[in-house]
Amino acid sequence: MKLNLYDALQQPSEIIEVLNEADIATLTLVLSYITSDLSYIDKIRPFVKGAFDYSVNVPREISREIIIKLIKELKNKVNKNNNLTKINMIEDKYLSQLMSVGVGTEVPNEYIPMMKEELNFGNNSPRDSYIENIKKYNSKPDVVIIGSGLCGILAGIKLSKAKIPFTIIEKNDSIGGTWYENTYPGCGVDTPNHVYAYSFEPSYEWEEFYSKRDSIYKYLKHCVNKYNLNNNIKFNTTVKSIEYNEKLKKWKTLIIHDDKISTLDSSIIISAVGQLNKPSLPDIQGIRNYNKPIIHTAKWDKNYNFKNKNIALIGTGASGMQVAPELAKITKKLTIFQRTPHWIISNPNYHRKLTDGKKWVLENIPYYARWYRLQLFWGFCDGIHESLCKDPNWNFSERSINQTNDRFRNNMIKHIESLIGSNKELLNKVIPNYPPYGKRMLMDNNWFEMLNRNNVALITDKINFINSKGITTNKNTYDFDAIVTATGFNASKMIWPIEVIGKKGINLQDYWEKDNPKANLGITVPNFPNFFIMYGPNTNLAHGGSIVFHGECQIRYILGCINLLLENKYSIMDCKTEVYEKYNSKLDKQHAQMVWTHHKVDSWYRNKSGRVTTNSPWRLVDYWSFTKEPKEKDYIFSK
Ligand code: NAP
Repeated sequence: MKLNLYDALQQPSEIIEVLNEADIATLTLVLSYITSDLSYIDKIRPFVKGAFDYSVNVPREISREIIIKLIKELKNKVNKNNNLTKINMIEDKYLSQLMSVGVGTEVPNEYIPMMKEELNFGNNSPRDSYIENIKKYNSKPDVVIIGSGLCGILAGIKLSKAKIPFTIIEKNDSIGGTWYENTYPGCGVDTPNHVYAYSFEPSYEWEEFYSKRDSIYKYLKHCVNKYNLNNNIKFNTTVKSIEYNEKLKKWKTLIIHDDKISTLDSSIIISAVGQLNKPSLPDIQGIRNYNKPIIHTAKWDKNYNFKNKNIALIGTGASGMQVAPELAKITKKLTIFQRTPHWIISNPNYHRKLTDGKKWVLENIPYYARWYRLQLFWGFCDGIHESLCKDPNWNFSERSINQTNDRFRNNMIKHIESLIGSNKELLNKVIPNYPPYGKRMLMDNNWFEMLNRNNVALITDKINFINSKGITTNKNTYDFDAIVTATGFNASKMIWPIEVIGKKGINLQDYWEKDNPKANLGITVPNFPNFFIMYGPNTNLAHGGSIVFHGECQIRYILGCINLLLENKYSIMDCKTEVYEKYNSKLDKQHAQMVWTHHKVDSWYRNKSGRVTTNSPWRLVDYWSFTKEPKEKDYIFSK
């Protein structure tokens, strides 16, 4: 439909058809929300069940009644400028009731403040409260942001709104970070796109529920252009080191551009380099002696022609899951080397495109996109959090960690059996022996159909070495035209290879014992004053959720810190060591309860000594409340 909301409401038969394409649970939330009438949610309550498609069981006559009522209400309330007027917005205390019905499970009242914020993204979003305050100051500290990926762009947008001077240093010739660098076929998100977008910049143009890399890159470009960030970014410029000067109370950033070294001084540094930016070559003996192409998924060689080639793929994580089915379509033979199987979940929306009607609804029906986003928040993060926590009384702790986790396990096994059940040998190879969610949960990208192809082989024998000719396992030697490595990233070596020198010459990598990064809330580190990290230690959302949301929490916190500096006329703030230690011991304690520390699980989430350094153990609502406002008492300030 091309019409705007007001005009569409004058065409009942057309708008009914369009609304039929929307999720009825979400439409009902909108209706109850704008009318303050809870009777509508009561109608759908018995039928809405989690997680991927909340509306699926609602009877048609109820859907129809809700849609007709919604049209009537909107007709009364929407003016010719398409603005909602005369609304009788529901009282806050009922919000969790709405949400509970919308996701088919009890959502506690503690979610209300976060939900209210998520529902309100007008010009006066509470998430931007510090921005308004900071804007009032004439003189503000200047900032260097390292990286123009998702978090660097976000920081740039918010700093520019707060009128804080900033420069973004970007090593590539374009923005986008991981979404620029990863170009392998099939690359895309496995988090639903309607939460994998900035809250203040919802995109109605996503063609798919889970977009591919090009769409996400285009979205990020759009944001950079819309918020005029291009002039603030120094492209093709690598940050070599940053060093804190205690006398000047400034950071010196050493940059290299066109082989020329220069420096930048700033009061504040924001590291937005992320966790997944250093591709890791597998530590297989002799790999460097291989004399044919080795192509890492994160450094894709667009010029290599895979057509009719005999290709090896090492790695079956998120990148392997996406690239393998694409390679299988064009190669003569694809041999996949799997060290450990991943749990793979089937998701009906993973390959689906949004209908035009659904896109129209997301863009035009007031609050629909907001409620939909909240439903996704629940289904893909906080709603499953409990199933990731070990139940100490659970009797089957070798295979799962609690009853719900075990149910997930059974459902996934059923899914796998439905596709390759007759092939017992293959079945044994692909069913993991550790609990679901221990490693990154993968969305089934037609993986099992691919394994059934004649030109695909799955090898689970241990790779002993690679030499100039090929790969040798404990059973066989294989010759290939090229090896693709989907072997992930050096995530625990955070911020490296940038050298970060704080107070008293302390080197951040030494402080972190090379692979044991820690930070207060993932953001600040003692002895590194005015140094803030986005997507830092223990802020990865391993089971779902959205890094974008976490980024928004982090930048709000950072702006809160800048606000504290300005309000109190301080120039420097340094996290107290005891605060940092206390936070991290609380975090480690929580991790000990979580699936990622299960004795059968090994993954990139853990460092060499087994500590989880990348993931957040918290629910979104916890991290949101921890980061809402920096506590003055957590920092040492100086003028
Ligand atoms: P990964 O999850 O770390 O997977 C690496 C794979 O390589 C694993 O299967 C691993 O086996 C295997 N491997 C590593 N070293 C090996 C060796 N020496 N011999 C044999 N196999 C070896 O890396 P990734 O797939 O690139 O994903 C990393 C993260 O990036 C994901 O968890 C996700 O956060 C993000 N990502 C997201 C998407 C998305 O859809 N949004 C797509 C790609 C990546 P083991 O399991 O035995 O270690």
